[in-house]
Order: sequence, then structure tokens, then C-alpha cells
Amino acid sequence: MRTETEVLIAGAGPAGLVLACELARRGVAHVLLERDAEPFAGSRGKGLQPRSLEVLEDLGVLERVLALGGPYPPIRMEVDGEVAFSGYMDEPREATADVPYPNGWMVPQWRTGSILRERLAELGGAVVPDAALVSFAQDGAGVTAVVREAGEEREIRAKYLVGTDGGRSTVRKGLGVTFLGETREEERMLIGDVRARGLDHDVWSIFQSKARPFPVALCPLAGTDTFQVFLPVPPGAPIPELSLAVFQEAVDAAAGAGRIELTELVWSSVFRPNIRMAERFRVDRVFLAGDAAHVHSPAGGQGLNTGVQDAYNLGWKLAAVLQGGDTGLLDTYEAERLPVAANVLGLSTALHEKVREGAADALRRDDPELQQLVLGYPGSPLTVERRAAPAEAHAGDRAPDAIGKADGASVRLFPLIHTGSPVLLAFGGGARRVAEAVAPALTVAVGSPAFEDVDGTAHTAYGVAEGRDTLFVLRPDGYIGLATDTPEEAETSAYLTRLTAH
Ligand SMILES: Cc1cc2nc3c(=O)[nH]c(=O)nc-3n(C[C@H](O)[C@H](O)[C@H](O)COP(=O)(O)OP(=O)(O)OC[C@H]3O[C@@H](n4cnc5c(N)ncnc54)[C@H](O)[C@@H]3O)c2cc1C
Repeated sequence: MRTETEVLIAGAGPAGLVLACELARRGVAHVLLERDAEPFAGSRGKGLQPRSLEVLEDLGVLERVLALGGPYPPIRMEVDGEVAFSGYMDEPREATADVPYPNGWMVPQWRTGSILRERLAELGGAVVPDAALVSFAQDGAGVTAVVREAGEEREIRAKYLVGTDGGRSTVRKGLGVTFLGETREEERMLIGDVRARGLDHDVWSIFQSKARPFPVALCPLAGTDTFQVFLPVPPGAPIPELSLAVFQEAVDAAAGAGRIELTELVWSSVFRPNIRMAERFRVDRVFLAGDAAHVHSPAGGQGLNTGVQDAYNLGWKLAAVLQGGDTGLLDTYEAERLPVAANVLGLSTALHEKVREGAADALRRDDPELQQLVLGYPGSPLTVERRAAPAEAHAGDRAPDAIGKADGASVRLFPLIHTGSPVLLAFGGGARRVAEAVAPALTVAVGSPAFEDVDGTAHTAYGVAEGRDTLFVLRPDGYIGLATDTPEEAETSAYLTRLTAH
């Protein structure tokens, strides 16, 4: 049996699910394969960064994510029985007009997965379970893949294949793309989700001993009655069996016997820090995204978030090209995401080393880059900055939010500019005339009844002086593509053509 589709996605982790949602919302036919018969059950990537929350809002799931998760708790760290640190990794911040979600949000990965699956179903898509991509071959017109579904092999023919199949990616190996970097075999850890008695659910408890390189940490998982436990395995020691008794023994050794009782091991796994990046994120009609393209230390909570951003970057581009846009748009995926992944890898590795070395600031997570709001695409071929001396919000940056008024009620800018399509955001009458002449349906005019900038938050966030004509062409993924204070119809129209089907 042979199935035909537009996009074949291998792997229904967070990256694959976000990509499938992005394609489904744009009506692009796709098949999302998942090797496992059951959804992933572990807490693993539990930290959603502020930029991911904005993406999840655009995907229509933020309310569920907020309702089912919670803020990061403060940390209490004991070193050999003495409290050595008590406080937050990153002090909670107040929301502002331009950054509505300034803090990380904790949701266990299994739950993020189930929310995204639910959303995909609402958008008319589905995961094909127990269906592993086995091999593939590509030609000038598409990719033919062999899939083993419920024990039977079948063929799927697609125009494009995306490997979101995790760190051991079959797609990456099939492409022969090198996974540059290292695996820290000597820094293995057991990770488990447990239920426990005698442990405060409002505090992330960490127990360290000067004699051990990595601490034993028990993080309460927001929205659940479980804790995520990390146990270091000493270098050279055999990996113990993944049992409740082994976790209990290690917690007793670190925290003191009789203090904490683990009552159930819900999920567990062995973890080796991998610090690697694929040399290429695309070979012709095949793309890599998420852990298939880059794997990180969990320090800094970047892996899942970076995969979500990969998928969010690729989805609209695939849709535009499949619906008639220029194929050159697809070249910008690697050009934009590879430098971001390299940067994130550097950040998370630096934090990992601090934890390993027991540095005084090892638990601080206040580097703004970790929130992924300041990561952008300044060097992208899609980025066009025409202003001589832009202040805030350069082309290539994330398009910020703002708060204005419509019909006397408070409104945010994000719902107007996160539509799944490009947006012409116009400040001033001249820019508005150009935008409306080019694409009235895509125009959002600051100062119009739909968004009166009564407190000037949009002007401030976008660095536009009152009364100055400025036009921003925003990409479907919420980044500023073109920024100009001399807006012209011909340039705006030509630029828009680069982003869309035509
Ligand atoms: C201990 C730990 C803590 C972490 N904490 C954080 C954190 O706080 N924040 C954060 O952002 N990240 C964190 N991460 C990283 C995060 O878990 C990963 O980056 C994330 O799961 C990657 O998502 P993905 O969709 O790319 O891949 P995966 O989640 O690995 O999903 C890949 C999917 O592909 C499937 N698959 C594999 N092969 C095939 C095939 N041949 N055919 C079909 N399907 C296939 C797999 O079954 C799997 O479901 C942590 C990781 C660990 C280990």
C-alpha cells in the first residue's frame, strides 16, 4: 500500500507536534508518524520559556498550558546538611506591554505533548502511532519513505520529509549528516518521576555533598503530585537498575535516611549529556528539526523550546512553498535556525559546566537569552532593515506586543499580528496608505480604531517616533521581516511575495 502526502513528519515529540499543528492550521496535507505505540510519559523537558509561551498562544493552547502548569518554585539547596542557597533561579518578573509572559512556566513534557496532540486533533490532524520511519530515498520531486506500522511495512510518498525523530534520528543518519559534538559518558544521570512523602511541594530541593560532582535534585512538577528526580551516577560506576529502591537509597544518602519517603516511581530513564549539532539542517527535500538537529544539556531548559522554535520557523515556509511560493524560502530555514541552535548549545553547555564545577552562580538562570525573546534572525536573507538608525525592534527581531484600546476596551497587539499570515504593521498615515494599497486584508494600522496606541506602548516597543511613517512587514512566525521609514508600494509588495504563495 502506498500513501501520498505533501509533508511526511517522522517523530511526534514536541517539535513534530508543533510542525503538524502549523501545517494543519494552513490546510497542508501531512502524515505525522510516531514510532512508539503510546505517548511519551516522562516529565523530561518541563520548562517552557517565555518565547515558547507566545508561540503556544498563537497555536491556540496557551490557556491550557497555563491552567495545567505552574510557575517555577524557589530552590532550597543543602550542602552536607547546611542550607547553602535559598531563592529563585531567576527572580519572577512583572508582565509588561511588550512582554506579556516574562517568566518560564513549568509543564511536564508528557502534558505538553498531550495538549499539542489535542490541538492537532482540533485542527483535523492526528498522530499515526506505532509507525516508525525505516528508510527513505529522495529524488527531484519528492521523498519515498518505508514505514513500519503495527509490524507491517508500507510506502509513503511525500514532497518533503522532516525528521523530528529525536537525538538518535533515523532521518539524520539516513542523510549521512554528521552530528558534531560530544557525549559525556562520565556524567550519566538517572532521571525519574516519583511520588514522595516528607518533601515540600512548593520548593525545588537540592542536596549536595562536596564529595559528589552533581547534586541530587527533586523538583516538584507543577500541576501534578510528582517530583522530577535527578541522580548522578559516579564516573565509572555501573548504571544501577531503574527501581524505586535505587532512587530511595540515593535520596537517603544525599538528604539523610528517614527524611523523605519515595512511594512510587512513575517514569524513569538514564540520561547522558549530549552536546551535539547536525552539520546541516537540510539536504534538498529533507529537513531536520528539534533534537534530531541539536541536543543540549538540560541545564537552562533550552532543548524542547529550541525544537518548538525550529518547527514554528519551518511550518509556515513549507506551507507557503507547497501553496505556490518561491522554493528559495526553504533555504532560509537552515540559514536562520542553525546559528540560533549553535548559540543555544553554547549557552546551555556553559551552564552545564557551572553546575558540574559547583560554581557560586551555577543555579542562576537570569541570562535573557535563555528566555529566547532576544533570539532573532538579524543575518537572515529574509531580513531587510531600511532605516538608517533604528532604535528598538530591528528587522530580524521578534515583533513585540503592545497594549492599546479598541472601542474603549484594552486590547493587545499580539492577537492582531499573530494570525498565521504576514502582517503589514503601519505607523503613520503614509505607511498605512502604502500597506492598504498593497494588502488591505493584511494591514494593521496603529492609531486606527482597531488599535489606538493611547499609552504609546506600540510606538515605544517598535522604536517609532510619534508621527513618523514606518512600515514593518511581520512574518507569519512573528518576526520583523522588513522595516522601513520610507515605505513604497513596489518594495512592500515584492517583499510580501517572498513570504507567501503566489
Ligand atoms: C532530563 C532532561 C531534562 C530536560 N529539561 C528540559 C527543559 O527544562 N526545557 C527544555 O526545553 N528541554 C528540556 N529537555 C530537552 C527536551 O526533552 C528535548 O529537547 C525534547 O524532547 C526534544 O523534542 P523533539 O520533539 O525534538 O524530540 P523528542 O522529544 O525526542 O521526540 C522524538 C520522537 O520521535 C520518535 N521517533 C524516533 N525515531 C522515530 C522513527 N524512526 N520514526 C518515527 N518516530 C520516531 C520518538 O519516539 C519520539 O516520540 C530535557 C531533556 C532531558 C533528558
